[in-house]
Amino acid sequence: MDSNAIRKLLKLQEADMRLKDMETRLETLPKEMNNIIARRDKIAANTAEAVTVVKKIKLRIKQDEDLIAELESSSEKLRQQSAMVKKNNEYQAMLNAIELNKQKISEAEERILAADEELTEAKRSGAKIKFANDAEIKNLRTEFEELFSFSKVVKEEIAKLQAARPELVRDIPPALLSPYESLRNNKEGAAPLTTAPNETCGHCRLKITAQTAVALKRGEIAYCDNCQYLLYDPESLC
Ligand SMILES: [Zn+2]
Repeated sequence: MDSNAIRKLLKLQEADMRLKDMETRLETLPKEMNNIIARRDKIAANTAEAVTVVKKIKLRIKQDEDLIAELESSSEKLRQQSAMVKKNNEYQAMLNAIELNKQKISEAEERILAADEELTEAKRSGAKIKFANDAEIKNLRTEFEELFSFSKVVKEEIAKLQAARPELVRDIPPALLSPYESLRNNKEGAAPLTTAPNETCGHCRLKITAQTAVALKRGEIAYCDNCQYLLYDPESLC
């Protein structure tokens, strides 16, 4: 095993780790984009809620206005009828009913006055909410578009790395490539080729044997006696 093989394997490993990073990044993008959509929907619902508040107040005002009209027409009828009533107690009952209508009208008018103030406030606050939410939605749209272009860049880089890989693999001896590939494809996903600073495996952190240390000093690639990851001595590259 010469230092050239180590260099080539390191080059392949660097490209593979980059490829893995890019693939992981690409996998997280849809989730991030969906989060943005969910945030946008929540903000849009908040704006709609403010509009609903205004609508509800307007509806209450309309209901009271209708009630007043109804009571006024009822009182008008009673006035006309009272002119034709002969019995005093009936006449009195009509006057009482008109008086009651008057009270109800005045109550409704007070509610309308209060609701008018509420309406002004709700409109002001609704406009404020809409302004802030519209700005936030604009930001989210930009964020979404950025992620979308980023996903294109990532896909392009992945394609590039994949296309360049056969060339990087070609010159690596099969005896080295095979353990490298099985380590690369395991669940852990750590770099298969690592160093052993202070005679300690860079992957599992356990002490390597004296025999392995000697092999590394000779510029060979050796297996960690514990985790079987590939080890090399960076000084052998100098
Ligand atoms: Zn190890």
